Amino acid sequence: MAIRELGEFGLIDVIQENTIFSPESVVVGIGDDAAAIRPPKDKLELFATDMLVEDIHFTVDTISPHDLGYKTIAVNLSDIAAMGGRPTQVVISMALRPDLEASFVTEMYQGMKEICREFGVNLVGGDTVSTRGPIVLNCAVLGEVAESRLQKRSGARVGDWVAVTNTLGDSAAGCELLLKRKDKYTEAEQALIKAHVKPCPQVVLAKALAEYATSMNDVSDGLASESNELAKAGNIRIRIDKAKIPLSDAMREASLDKDKIDYALYGGEDYQLIFTMPPKETQELIDGKITVIGEVVAGDAGVFLADGDKTERLLPKGYQHF
Ligand code: ADP
Ligand code: MG
Repeated sequence: MAIRELGEFGLIDVIQENTIFSPESVVVGIGDDAAAIRPPKDKLELFATDMLVEDIHFTVDTISPHDLGYKTIAVNLSDIAAMGGRPTQVVISMALRPDLEASFVTEMYQGMKEICREFGVNLVGGDTVSTRGPIVLNCAVLGEVAESRLQKRSGARVGDWVAVTNTLGDSAAGCELLLKRKDKYTEAEQALIKAHVKPCPQVVLAKALAEYATSMNDVSDGLASESNELAKAGNIRIRIDKAKIPLSDAMREASLDKDKIDYALYGGEDYQLIFTMPPKETQELIDGKITVIGEVVAGDAGVFLADGDKTERLLPKGYQHF
């Protein structure tokens, strides 16, 4: 059945079941003119939005509706994590073609509800319109953070370590593999593709890191771009040791077109975190969930990449919309 036959209200009926996963903060969810939410007590409210557009951010033949729904919310939760916060509520606006299968939307919402359940986030509203153009999916997210835990892009000090969560580059490598539209993918290739279509926002690690990090950013546009954002916002010089940039086993195993480190530096959509911290061992470091890749050094703002005895400026190349 096409969406046209289900109609706007039929669609919203399907959407509105099972949307509340942390009920204590919701007075009114989907079904009224606006959601009514209890604001966090003694905390800052975080508010962010991120949009996905068909044929710019995704194509319907390389991502399932379920994963697309999951990812639309994941990229938003990542922005809240990058502020050291916990996501609480989302609203979703979408522009859809009338001939799209209704199952596309129901499966997409299953993906959205899966991630909402995982992180205890409520889906409290949205807007649905038709379009003759590409599918547009927008999410706006609310979150909360104690003021003392707030992580801005500025705040790093000379001598701080620069660290990242998990591994980088997997998503960009997965994207490249997907676009080859192979009939069969190896296990390593499938792991990279999964990192691309179903990224995990680092909400859990962010909570631990927010206790000691001095600045933080999420890695949505590649390490080169994001480290430069930290350098610019914090007016600091960062030195990154190329050999320390963490790559996954899947990345090492897969055969790819480019130098593997380039996916980490100039790829995107990893949704990991880059942050600065005082130089000391921490539990997350010992557990191997974070890797120190460099440090904040004295000097003019900028990022430098050390490769053996060579050091070069690392420019903020990466995906840019305009
Ligand atoms: P209004 O005309 O007041 O904007 P709508 O008919 O657009 O109301 O929406 C009815 C209810 O359904 C509202 O609570 C709205 O937040 C919710 N809603 C509409 N579209 C979506 C969507 N895509 N995802 C989640 N909730 C939605
Ligand atoms: Mg509306």
